Amino acid sequence: MSSVATGADLSPRESVTALVRGVPVQVACTAWCATDHTANNLVGIEDVTHETKDIAVSTPDGLGGTEDVMIARLSQYPFLRHGETGPVLVLDSTGSGECAELTKTEARAHLDQYRAHLDAIEALVDLLP
Ligand SMILES: [Zn+2]
Repeated sequence: MSSVATGADLSPRESVTALVRGVPVQVACTAWCATDHTANNLVGIEDVTHETKDIAVSTPDGLGGTEDVMIARLSQYPFLRHGETGPVLVLDSTGSGECAELTKTEARAHLDQYRAHLDAIEALVDLLP
């Protein structure tokens, strides 16, 4: 039996089925979400997470290989009882698995720093013969 979780805004979004303790629950899913909500049997409704796929940049690791850094995705925990329920940018800047959750304002501030840093790297590259 399906039920509509309280707090779900169904209007501009697609309604999808999440499995919570074996019970199908209809939840509103965001347009950007890439999560298969039926893939996992969740412990509670607060475990419903909307996420994009990860994006990353590959960089030389100094040992002849590469590693992914600046791994980012959008995540939203719409039924979280305590804490942020709006979408955030999840950023693993070093590829270590440690992630920061940034608001739009915080993410934009970091983007400004990254752009300035890329400009500085480009200036160094321009000095190469
Ligand atoms: Zn979703």
